[in-house]
Parts: sequence; C-alpha cells; structure tokens
Amino acid sequence: MHELRIDERRFRRDFNELAEIGSTGDGGVHRPSLSAEHLEARRWFRERIERDGLEFRTDGAGNHSAVLSAAQPAAPTLLMGSHLDSVLHGGRFDGALGVVAAYEALRTVRDAGLELPVHIEAIDFTDEEGTLVGLLGSLAVAGAITREGLASPRGGREELEQGMCRAGITDESIIAAARATESLAGFLELHIEQGPRLVDGGIDIGIVSAIVGMTSIDLVFVGREDHAGTTPMGARRDAGLAAATFITEATARVRREFADCVVNFGRVELAPGAYNIVPGRAELGMEFRAPSEERMSELEASLLELARAIGPRHEVQVNVRPLGGIAATPCADVCRAAFAEACGTLGLSHTALLSGAGHDTMALAHVCPAGMIFVPSTGGSHSPREHAEWPACVNGANALLHAALRMAR
Ligand SMILES: [Zn+2]
Repeated sequence: MHELRIDERRFRRDFNELAEIGSTGDGGVHRPSLSAEHLEARRWFRERIERDGLEFRTDGAGNHSAVLSAAQPAAPTLLMGSHLDSVLHGGRFDGALGVVAAYEALRTVRDAGLELPVHIEAIDFTDEEGTLVGLLGSLAVAGAITREGLASPRGGREELEQGMCRAGITDESIIAAARATESLAGFLELHIEQGPRLVDGGIDIGIVSAIVGMTSIDLVFVGREDHAGTTPMGARRDAGLAAATFITEATARVRREFADCVVNFGRVELAPGAYNIVPGRAELGMEFRAPSEERMSELEASLLELARAIGPRHEVQVNVRPLGGIAATPCADVCRAAFAEACGTLGLSHTALLSGAGHDTMALAHVCPAGMIFVPSTGGSHSPREHAEWPACVNGANALLHAALRMAR
C-alpha cells in the first residue's frame, strides 16, 4: 500500500480538460457559481465519473460527487474535495485542482481494489467563492445554512434565485442537504497556497494548522467641516487626517506587535468630498485576520484602543460599527497527523502553515475532523497568473491519497 501512487497522466489530462471550460484564453477561467460555465464544468465532472464507471451523487445544494462505497452500507463517509466555481476571471488552479486531485485519489483506490471500512467521496462544493452566498455547498452539508442567510445573500437574492433555477435547487433543498454528523468520517482538502511561503522555502507541502478568522469593522471619524483656505491648520478638526493617521499607525502596530495577523483598509470615504472643504467625516472600512479567537480579541482591542486614542488628538469623535466576521478555525490534529505521515511515506518535505483565506474546510471543521494541505503556487490567486508546477500538484495529490488511506483506517 505504501507504493500506491496516483496516475499522473490521467490526473493531468483531467485537469487540462477542465481548465478549458470557461477558459479566458490567458491561462485563467471564468466560472462564477451556478453560471453556465460553472454548470458546464459540473457536467464534465459528472460525465467523467460515469464514464469511469463510478457512482455519481448530487444533493439539494447542487454539490457533485463521485462515491466509492464500502462493503458496509452503514459505514461513515470520508469526504475529499474542493470547488469548481471560480471568482470572476479567476485562475484555473483555485478549487479545481483540489476536486480533480480528490477524484484521482478516489480512482486510484478503486483501481487498486482496496477495500476500506469507510465510503470515499470526492466532492465539488457549490459556491465556495461567494459569488452568491459563500461556502454555500459545504455549509449546507454541515447543516449551517439558514433561511435568513439565503434571504439576503451577499451576491443579491435575484442572482441567487436565477442560479438556483439553473441548477434545479431551492432554499428547501439546500437546507435539506445537511448530513448527519455521525455519517461523516472526516474531510480532506488540497488547495494551492495562493501565497509565496512554500515556493520561497522550497517546501513540498504546507499542512494547514488553522484557517484564520476575519472581522470587519467600519470606523466613522466625525470632525468639523471648515473652509480650507481660511481655517488655520492648527484650528482644524480634520476627520480625514485622523483616519489617515489611524491607517498608518494601525498598520505599523500590526507589523510590530501582531506579526501573525493582518489588517486592511480597503474602503475610505471622505465627506463632503470637496477640494476646498476640510473633511468633517471619514468612513474607514477595516478588515483584520488572526489565527485564533484569542489573538483576534487581542488585535481588535488593540486597534480600537488606538482609534480612540487618535481621535482626541485631532478633536475628532470616533464611532465604531461592527460588521461581524468569521471565527478562526483550527484544523483537526488527526488530519494534520495523517498528512504529516503521508508526507513521510512519500519523502516530501512539509511545514505547518496558517491559511489566510477561507476554504470549504472551515465549514466542515464544525461537524467532523477536517484538514487541508497547500501545494506551492506562484502568481498569487484569484487571477489568471496563478500557477502551480505540475510535479508539485502530483506530490499534493499523492499526499492527499495517503492521508485518506490513513484516515480511512
Ligand atoms: Zn479556493
């Protein structure tokens, strides 16, 4: 069993075929969730499964799967997979590599004639990227989708309804896609890193220790509008200046004291927004991420303390509008150990990494042991430039296969 390896050529052929669907001609793909291109990718997956003589399964959330059943029908299921949807004009590796690798691992187990005590399922989750809802398929399987969440999705209710109509699913069927916790033996995901750490370090596999949590807060600085020509510099209550000071000081503080965290100011609005008026109001959209809930609280407290200290310096009032977020999600020790042992078997170097981006693993981690690995990638992500060398993808798929064999036993 230690000698078992995936079929590299078959894996590559499938990956390349899939990358043609919704291809943007520059190395990228455009497959927003439940769009015509995304549904065509799903049709490809279904046909591939059926041509290979494997069992195809879909559920009320539109998730598509290949299933390799165990002898005992009541056995739990070990899930592996990721997502075939992309962001608008995204890259061809994000998500798709994880689905094709999971499927290749399943096919390798079937071809080897191994009898495992669990069902193995390679799954493509609906709408991971959040064109419509975000983690829709994986949250549905985890029983964490609510009617309220579906009523006001981030991509707009009308867009969601049109997508559901194209896919033949409904609010009710999505909610009914929840699986019994005891039916799940675990979830394993392979993904490109989407960052430079593995390539820079020359490391084969990143074993994710946790997926960082994320919080969004709007800060509103309220000063006083004034004539920009007649008001002396020292007499101003400049909300824009207070916001700008906060951006630079908060960034410096995070770099200095929170090296494991990140902060971003992606939205700034000054009012009234005229050349000749001192801004009386500045709205700042702030998002920050941390590897644990404890660290998240420390970071939030520190950032808000800083904002409240900077306001009075400019005679500006600071109002805080919390927008919520996602909790940090640790990966299961049993999955991390399975991946580490798999790397040992295969002679692959590995390191523990935090995931700065959200993934389907976050949803599954609440209902079963869930873990994920990264393969080295360049060109960032959510872009046609994202790239992973093929031998690195093969290493990842073999690590996924061997981790699954360990989890199955
Ligand atoms: Zn992804």
